[in-house]
Amino acid sequence: MTVIAELALPVPLAHTFSYVVPPHLVARVQKGVRCVCPFRSKKLVGVVVALREEEVPDPKLKSIAQVLGEPSLPEDLVDFLRDIAGYYLAPIGEVVRLALPPMDRVTEQALQEPSLFPDATRGVAPRKVQWVLPTDGAPPADLKLSAQQAGVLAHVRSVGASQVARLEQTWKSARAATAKLVELGLLRFEERERPDDPFFREGAEKEPVPTLTEAQDAAAQAIRGAIADGKGHTFLLRGVTGSGKTEVYFRAIEDTKASGRSTIVLVPEIALTPQLVARFRGRFGDDVAVLHSGLTPKERLGMWSRLRSGQVDVVIGARSALFAPVAKLGLLVVDEEHDPSFKQEEGVRYQARDMAILRAHRGNAVAILGSATPSLETEYLVIEGKARVLELPTRARAQELPEVRVIDLRKTGPGPTGDKRISLPLHRALEDALARGEQSILFLNRRGFSPSARCEACGKHAECPNCSVALTYHKRRGSTLRCHYCDYEIPMLANCTHCGSGEIALEGIGTERLEETLSAAFPTARVARLDRDVASGKEVEKILTRVRNREVDILVGTQMVTKGHDLPAVTLVGVINADAALSIPDFRAAERAFHLMVQVAGRAGRGDAKGRVLIQTYDPDHPAIKAAVRHDVRAFTEREMEARKELLYPPYARLVLVRVDGPDEAETLGAARLLAEVARRVAGNAVEVVGPAPAPLTRLKARFRFRLMLRGQSRKHLRDVARAVYAAMADLPRKVHATVDIDPVQFL
Ligand code: ADP
Ligand code: ZN
Ligand code: ZN
Repeated sequence: MTVIAELALPVPLAHTFSYVVPPHLVARVQKGVRCVCPFRSKKLVGVVVALREEEVPDPKLKSIAQVLGEPSLPEDLVDFLRDIAGYYLAPIGEVVRLALPPMDRVTEQALQEPSLFPDATRGVAPRKVQWVLPTDGAPPADLKLSAQQAGVLAHVRSVGASQVARLEQTWKSARAATAKLVELGLLRFEERERPDDPFFREGAEKEPVPTLTEAQDAAAQAIRGAIADGKGHTFLLRGVTGSGKTEVYFRAIEDTKASGRSTIVLVPEIALTPQLVARFRGRFGDDVAVLHSGLTPKERLGMWSRLRSGQVDVVIGARSALFAPVAKLGLLVVDEEHDPSFKQEEGVRYQARDMAILRAHRGNAVAILGSATPSLETEYLVIEGKARVLELPTRARAQELPEVRVIDLRKTGPGPTGDKRISLPLHRALEDALARGEQSILFLNRRGFSPSARCEACGKHAECPNCSVALTYHKRRGSTLRCHYCDYEIPMLANCTHCGSGEIALEGIGTERLEETLSAAFPTARVARLDRDVASGKEVEKILTRVRNREVDILVGTQMVTKGHDLPAVTLVGVINADAALSIPDFRAAERAFHLMVQVAGRAGRGDAKGRVLIQTYDPDHPAIKAAVRHDVRAFTEREMEARKELLYPPYARLVLVRVDGPDEAETLGAARLLAEVARRVAGNAVEVVGPAPAPLTRLKARFRFRLMLRGQSRKHLRDVARAVYAAMADLPRKVHATVDIDPVQFL
């Protein structure tokens, strides 16, 4: 018998490659291990994804040359990656790379240093952090503590562990007080390793654990039962904004830890949720690994090794944390499961939420999908009996949901600014909030100053030469016209490029203009802006911290402001233009608009004062708006489900989107037609082939774009057609590029 290994190699091909395992390596070649293999005239590092035995192997097969260390990936993760490659018709080599830490991908280095993985963190000096803990010692009877010393002692005893930096925030002479208390034997110092993690904050300490509300308790009990029976269950935690979903996750994580298993928590965009990460740290201390794009390769590898070795058993991160190499997965949480960012839109186009259910299912782990506004896909799982609903119908601290009012822009005039997008009622509401010292959030999903610049003489817009979109005018950082889809940027035009007229009008409003207008209208108010132009990574956290510290009165921003921020002093939320999200050519437009409205509304009134929400629209009778006014998720879901059923859209049908793009329009269309023919040939009656048609964005980065849609109810038939199209893609002209997107989310 000869042992044959199937390897995933870093080449863009869908299949694996077979190699003979020489007898002296058989013991070390396991699933998930990295091996050096001859490939054409080179050597490549691949990962073993399967093993089999053969009586008479193909004599042409080459042998594995070298084994690199211990298995990099746990066996169950390898099987899961194969499922993903199969489901998304993605090259297995690329899928495997999603799960490997960056240093592991450096082939050259791996070759020079065969044991790279186990030794990778060697030489990184562990940075220590000093903690202050209480001792069991009782204070001598005649002891007189100063007010500061007594305060520090009581605090450390109540929280269990703190740090001098944190104590100094409350007691000015905390350092001296702590030293004295240590001398007296009432406190002690303990050195702990500082995690390789920019999210780590000195001074983070345990939050007090609240008593669960009745609904939280019922949910936590149901999950506890599922964890105990170890068979794998899927839950939809449907809880209104502010209902305390996070606390339910915490309890589930504690139960999972107690059962000796680990947890993965997926959150939409980790840079936008520093507060949530801090809460996890506050609860679980340094046992939480935070995976995010801001990590250096070394930090990422350090984190990765701690997870792989089981040193850390909770990991929180954006969609790619789905591939965290945790040992014994017991729980997978997808927070804000409706968020579109769980879908990866380049490379392997996977939907992390769907795959989370699959990974949990394979490992008999529990999956919890949490949201105030569940996606229709997830609601459908409930209808099919594949997920169980846990409901949190009220806010955790019994605050009322905010009152939502619609402002009909057809009938309502502008306020004192003269700008129709700041209507009189909105203006008055802002004044009220300011007068009471409360904060406001205004949501407008357009960044820049003006979405377009139009010539008053000939009526033409300034357009991007590479993309079929209008250029956005940005005033700050040089007055420029910019394309939001490519890097194109020019100074603001003095004259129209078509007719030469000097009369160019800036049309519409973006966040930059809204910020400027409000600053002028409310000169004493502190106005801040949160969008991709001002904020990336650390900047987001800074702005949110300023808001939390009440150094901001009005926060203006794009969808970044709609995320799960818990800002108790915000009482007013304004949606500047609800119609923008509704008018997108996408069957999910209403669902998405509804989610945005309910989520942003959910930022209001989380503290003691009641919140209110104003939604400005030209279409006040739209069902999504009417449902948002009543916070009626159920009514919206039911109605939208009916519509999807009738029109045969997901979740009642499955879609595959084939995107074709190329520099030459005719050649690209020709290629798209060819793929359509292939699809129609195998489609039969079970699969509908729509197109090819130009994409809504007909040109992007100087490439023409066409697409083809496959739709069907039978997963099997749809896959057969998608496979045929995928195979035909290999024969397209060299400059034409095609991709298959299974369960597409974006249609631009
Ligand atoms: P959600 O994620 O559902 O919007 P959060 O988890 O952010 O809600 O909780 C909202 C607020 O309620 C937080 O400030 C949280 O600390 C608080 N909270 C959660 N559960 C409880 C509870 N049982 N008692 C008191 N406060 C709670
Ligand atoms: Zn002109
Ligand atoms: Zn462009």
